[in-house]
Amino acid sequence: MNADLAERIAHVQQRIANAAHRVQRDPAEISLIAVSKTHPLDLISQAIEAGITDLGENRVQEAEGKIHAQSETERAKTRWHLIGHLQSNKARRAVQLFDMIHTVDSLKLAQTLNRIVAEESDVETDRLPILLQVNVSGEASKEGFNLVGGMNSQDWLDFVATVREIIAMPYLHVQGFMTIPPFDVDLEHVVRPCFRMVRELRDALQVMLNHDFPHLSMGMSGDFEIAIEEGATLVRVGTAIFGNR
Ligand SMILES: *Cc1c(COP(=O)(O)O)cnc(C)c1O
Repeated sequence: MNADLAERIAHVQQRIANAAHRVQRDPAEISLIAVSKTHPLDLISQAIEAGITDLGENRVQEAEGKIHAQSETERAKTRWHLIGHLQSNKARRAVQLFDMIHTVDSLKLAQTLNRIVAEESDVETDRLPILLQVNVSGEASKEGFNLVGGMNSQDWLDFVATVREIIAMPYLHVQGFMTIPPFDVDLEHVVRPCFRMVRELRDALQVMLNHDFPHLSMGMSGDFEIAIEEGATLVRVGTAIFGNR
């Protein structure tokens, strides 16, 4: 047992619970995804021993090495989340490896994933859990559906139409949205409004499309408490658990 690692995990869990309580949310609604990119499998195994069940990786190839090296019993206990940009040519491997893909950022990628899940699955009712990545700030990255203009823009109308198409795809299960805010020290005036915007657009889409989007993947080591205050259900925490990369 790695006592330091277990302590850091417990500390993050406590901070998650405190943030949830501040806004009258049930901490059980929030899942901690330990972001293990660049860290070796033995450290990841120690985190699993300390209670981690969800792991996040941002590169398909790096994740593949780790997932294939896991023992069968350990693999059965863990869910792997893809949190980095996915290129179409890696979509099949991503479908085979990951339990959830957070970074679907185009209609074309959704179509590709839907087709591949249909080909790969033996069960007709298999659906791949995905999130749609949205960019509400313009600064952080160019990835994600561009919603920088807010809900009064043509981009928004296009996005609504695209989401409508993707939720109708039989082999995908769109469970919500993911965002990466700009890297900014002003958490209150820059980062918090981004998280709030994503929650508001989720709430609007639920009504417009009559569809449940239970998950919001937002918040990293520097801002996960604010993300939880704004409605995050999946927080992606690397450094605060595993230390610097
Ligand atoms: C690396 C990464 C994280 C974790 O970042 P930390 O600041 O180390 O917690 C979260 N989300 C994404 C998309 C990442 O690439």
